[in-house]
Amino acid sequence: MQQQFIPSLMGIEEEQSSDPPPSTLRVEEPPSAPVQEQVTKSKALLQWNDWRWQIRNRIRTLQDLSSYVPGLSNSENLHAVIAKYPMAITPYYASLIRRIDFSDPVFRMSVPNPQEMCDPPCLSEDPLEEHEDMPVPGLIHRYRDRALVIATTTCSMYCRHCTRKRIAGTRESSISPRRLAQVVEYLRATPEISDVIISGGDPLTMSDAMIESVLSAIRSVPSVQIIRIGTRVPVVLPMRITDELVQMLRKYHPLWINTHFNHPNELTPESAAACTKLADAGIPLGNQSVLLRGVNDQPQIIEQLCRGLVRIRVRPYYLYQCDLVRGVEHFRTSVRAGIEIMEYLRGRVSGLAIPTFVVDAPHGGGKIPVLPNYVVSMSPTHTVLRNYEGLLVNYPEPGVETAADEFTEQIGTPGVWELSSGRASVILPAKTQRGQRREKLRPKRNVGSTAFLFDA
Ligand SMILES: *Cc1c(COP(=O)(O)O)cnc(C)c1O
Ligand code: SF4
Repeated sequence: MQQQFIPSLMGIEEEQSSDPPPSTLRVEEPPSAPVQEQVTKSKALLQWNDWRWQIRNRIRTLQDLSSYVPGLSNSENLHAVIAKYPMAITPYYASLIRRIDFSDPVFRMSVPNPQEMCDPPCLSEDPLEEHEDMPVPGLIHRYRDRALVIATTTCSMYCRHCTRKRIAGTRESSISPRRLAQVVEYLRATPEISDVIISGGDPLTMSDAMIESVLSAIRSVPSVQIIRIGTRVPVVLPMRITDELVQMLRKYHPLWINTHFNHPNELTPESAAACTKLADAGIPLGNQSVLLRGVNDQPQIIEQLCRGLVRIRVRPYYLYQCDLVRGVEHFRTSVRAGIEIMEYLRGRVSGLAIPTFVVDAPHGGGKIPVLPNYVVSMSPTHTVLRNYEGLLVNYPEPGVETAADEFTEQIGTPGVWELSSGRASVILPAKTQRGQRREKLRPKRNVGSTAFLFDA
């Protein structure tokens, strides 16, 4: 089935790389250089900001890679990995590598790892069964009102953790006019679809003209209200966000963009400038991160990332549990790790900076939000909730009078049952910062007969 699908997407071929790869990382610039070298460098810098140069000079072979990563080139294992899952790293993204090993998050997300060949039986090519929700090739219709279009199989950088490893980079091509016409025909025949996601691959690796042909085709369908683009370009190829591109995109409002930052090291002046351009064009920006072992599976890293994102006007949208995709076992974390991160963020970080943690269900079940438990207990009259501090509070249901029943008695130390039966309204943790601030504001405040302090 996959084999049939991939060639069937084929249409326009991307140009192939011929230029030699750059030989140095930006972080390894020599401390001083003679004038001649400076000239060469500024020329190189002009090219550096040219996205087409970046695409042409992607690191694609082990030989290219060895100029960045000495010692990795002779590994037989890596030949097999690259043959199975293609490699491409933009020089820009490679320049964000700080340590030349798998403990570096950028290195880990972009450099092939022999562990990709490890295939436990619970993993598959297409765990989300996207192929089964494809009424026409290249269009995934899972939810009633939304559809996802795979507009290209090309990305500027192939993430080692990609959930569409079966598609991305296998053969670099974009949707053909014939396929696009079929997609439009399906959208016209299915007017309940009001939200179309243009994805891939990375749609912003296509030329402006090609992107515009996809956008205008989809915009021509009257029932389509919003268009979204899913792209990692602001992270791995920020110079792609040119003024011309943005001028073109703004003709297709309401247009939303979701990008894919995973680590604070990806937040650079260049990526910030790219997001600023898009936001200034009135395009609301969201971010979809994937929780990856050894990259961002610590609460403090996600906190830094999310704080950094809202500063550049990108709203954290989803934090994904890693899908059960072949070749990503070494990136998987427990669901527990995600719950722990959500527990950490709530109460500590602006709600605007908190994504929804989701498990994209195997068998095409769609995204399932997963949260720590905040509902502690329930009775017919009250719901007992906890907050991030451990405060327990009852929320009286509407229309319920809490009548003292015949069993009312003096309460000593209340428990959850006293809250759910309405005998107490709150149990406060002792000595929180918030409590201490309140004490200062209202030194004589009476806590009230239904509130109790307990020593944690
Ligand atoms: C994620 C996804 C969507 C969009 O889901 P939202 O929750 O609306 O962001 C639509 N279709 C498919 C196939 C998806 O995987
Ligand atoms: S940019 Fe997206 S589609 Fe491309 S390799 Fe990365 S995760 Fe996969």
